[in-house]
Amino acid sequence: MLNDDIRLGDIIVEDDSGDIVLIGFPYDEGVRRNNGRIGAKFGPKSFRELLKRTGTVVNAEYDDLDIRKYLKISDGGNINENLSLEDAHQELEKRIHQLILNNKIPFVIGGGNDQSYPNVSALLNNSKSIYVINIDAHLDVRPLKENNQSHSGSPFRLLCEDQRFYQNSQSIFYLFSFFISLFSLDRFIEFASQGSQCSIEHVNYLRSKSPLTKIIWYQTIRDDPLTPFREIIKSAEEQKSDIFISFDIDSIISSSCPGVSAPATIGLTSQQACDIAFYSGQSFHVKLMDVSEYNPLIEEYRTGKLVTLIFYHFLLGRAKAIRDSMQ
Ligand code: MN
Repeated sequence: MLNDDIRLGDIIVEDDSGDIVLIGFPYDEGVRRNNGRIGAKFGPKSFRELLKRTGTVVNAEYDDLDIRKYLKISDGGNINENLSLEDAHQELEKRIHQLILNNKIPFVIGGGNDQSYPNVSALLNNSKSIYVINIDAHLDVRPLKENNQSHSGSPFRLLCEDQRFYQNSQSIFYLFSFFISLFSLDRFIEFASQGSQCSIEHVNYLRSKSPLTKIIWYQTIRDDPLTPFREIIKSAEEQKSDIFISFDIDSIISSSCPGVSAPATIGLTSQQACDIAFYSGQSFHVKLMDVSEYNPLIEEYRTGKLVTLIFYHFLLGRAKAIRDSMQ
């Protein structure tokens, strides 16, 4: 039978052979430890179901952009779901490290936001200098729980305490020390943070790590988040850094994105979320992206479709960038 409406589900193969490789992280133990609503461990399964019928492979709205011509997309499966959270983090880091070594772009679907530290840790092992953009209503720099247990509120605390993050930054630091006023040194950027959800202690913690950290508050970008987002990408490119985009979907307004562990009454629109994913895909410096906190037990169809559209726009952006570079 002739298929006259080919969708992403028709072209994704199940192995690691893609230029972009999906990985699922089916864990919400980190959310439970952080007192969020559990259910995000079902996120990857629901995402894959909805992805089958999401996203035309040839998009007429972008000059008949044909994703197949420029990209191979594959699904590398889930991290084994029967591990302790600590073991699962180790497995995830190993998996992402291996993919990046093989020049693949991992796109990780959570699961809780605690996945972002193993993800960034894998990139730190591979890159000379990195830029991390955390799109999130929250800062996620909470201290660990007792017995050094990490949780969905702590991934970027772990990044900020990781010596590799500073070592990787130092060469840039010394090289450009003359021009500090000219060069942006922000290497970890909190994007769309909401002051009503971020404790001043955590804000001050990040301020103490300046100039390598920066908070871009939601109120300052709410009318136009794309211009500042593109500026960050541009400065990362100028510094020849690898970029990690970490997208916690609780930064999106809950009327559009209700199925999350901790909903935001105000926040980014669905369109802005897709635009951010599109521009992320367009930069060849973006080597890794993750999407956290999708909780289909709370709401599946509206939120899940949005998560698949975020992935789709990332692919569209990358395909467009490759097409543009060939012209
Ligand atoms: Mn978060």
